[in-house]
Amino acid sequence: MKMLVAGDWVDKEEKIEVLNPYNGSVVDTVPRGEGSDVARAVEGAVEGLKEMKSLTSYERYEILKRTSELLTDYKERFAQTLTQEVGKTITEARREVDRTVQTFLWASEEAKRIYGETVPFDAAPGAETKMGFFIRVPVGVIGAITPFNFPLNLVAHKLAPAFAAANAVVLKPAEQTPLSAIQLGELLLLSGLPRQAIQIVTGFGEEAGDPLVADPRVRMITFTGSMETGKKITSRAGLKKMALELGSNSACIVMRDGDLERAAERISRGGFSLAGQTCISVQRVFVQEEVFDKFLQSLIPKVKNLKVGDPAEESTDVGPMIDEEAAKRAKDWVDLALEEGAKLLLGGEQEETLFHPTLLTEVPKNCNLFSKEVFAPVVMINRFKTLEEAIDLVNDSPYGLQAGIFTRDLKGAFEAARKIEVGGVMINEIPTFRADHMPYGGVKGSGFGREGPRFAVAEMTEIRLISFELS
Ligand code: NAD
Repeated sequence: MKMLVAGDWVDKEEKIEVLNPYNGSVVDTVPRGEGSDVARAVEGAVEGLKEMKSLTSYERYEILKRTSELLTDYKERFAQTLTQEVGKTITEARREVDRTVQTFLWASEEAKRIYGETVPFDAAPGAETKMGFFIRVPVGVIGAITPFNFPLNLVAHKLAPAFAAANAVVLKPAEQTPLSAIQLGELLLLSGLPRQAIQIVTGFGEEAGDPLVADPRVRMITFTGSMETGKKITSRAGLKKMALELGSNSACIVMRDGDLERAAERISRGGFSLAGQTCISVQRVFVQEEVFDKFLQSLIPKVKNLKVGDPAEESTDVGPMIDEEAAKRAKDWVDLALEEGAKLLLGGEQEETLFHPTLLTEVPKNCNLFSKEVFAPVVMINRFKTLEEAIDLVNDSPYGLQAGIFTRDLKGAFEAARKIEVGGVMINEIPTFRADHMPYGGVKGSGFGREGPRFAVAEMTEIRLISFELS
């Protein structure tokens, strides 16, 4: 496939191979973009921005709504691409396309709701003779950099609100999974988006992402990816707006009065979907000691039942990890935890890119499995005595994206909601829950800024005050 630069589909001599993580076959190739391509793309986006600014809200609504409709028409094609490039199961891939349809639909509606406010100037002594209001204007050219795990919907969470708010975007998709993003670019052009409003430069982070971050014509960076890359980006960006959706080692508390069966069922999904490669995957579970054994009796058979294998098969629950290195790292972390005294309850085996669903207990705090993001189908289950202790354990993390608590006690639930330091607390639900219109994002090492079309539009616009002198 080609990249989209300054209105043209562009190829290059040097290519990146996109591999199917399950069988290693080459799905397709994309050009290996670099600094000079990024510079041309930004130049094109500056032109595209002028066209975006001349569109009415209604026209932007129509473009995004049409994209959503086309995505519905081409659902199966997109789902197949996702399965091949990410290795997610075909069921997960179809779900991602369905969600992307909704993300575009929400964003289309938000294009009609970008309001300002009047300012009561006469409330300030000396300003009585003025009347005024503020409007929201697009930030300008936005650089969007995305990760491999949801290469369609997370790209949509950047592009759709950016266009709703009349910005132009230079997108640098993940090098492992650029194909669905390119297909989405085709749909946006078919839907009538001004040709230069979207630029897609494929390439590696250091070669294509870094020059985009550093370009002074880019007014905002919206990034989803790891904390390590997020730190590099903040130190390179200079004076730019910034929205960072980073990783997590999400935690879930199970209280003795919680619905244990539901908790076990949800955790058996939330820890292992997409082979644990979700930013809000359940990684750390804390269970109150009185119900610890009962909870495990319910959880272990459910996880044992998950079918691991070919993501193209309808019956597969857990597909491969993105590459063998990622699976090997997960294996090393599990082995290290076992050396440190953790106990293996299930799994722990690696076969090339496949990593079998793994449960551990008694994981010490100093282990990577406790303190870092494992991003693999691995869940640790430790015990606690009091809610206060559980909240401290959840907060004992460099991250703060989302957390869950299973309890029937309202007071305890609200205490957890107030004291846990995250962007979202799910009561009687796992941290992995996300509806695409809700405000979504983290605190601490999980980043800042919120996605969800309404909230992303707010991030991607700026306030412009207009005042009239009436004297
Ligand atoms: P990554 O940080 O390795 O890569 C993400 C993107 O950044 C890629 O496009 C990559 O090419 C680019 N990049 C790498 N180095 C760069 C640099 N120096 N300058 C500019 N761009 C650079 O992440 P990944 O492995 O693709 O994705 C996994 C991570 O993403 C996990 O940490 C996961 O939790 C996180 N994630 C977060 C969310 C969220 O919404 N909070 C969602 C999905 C994934």
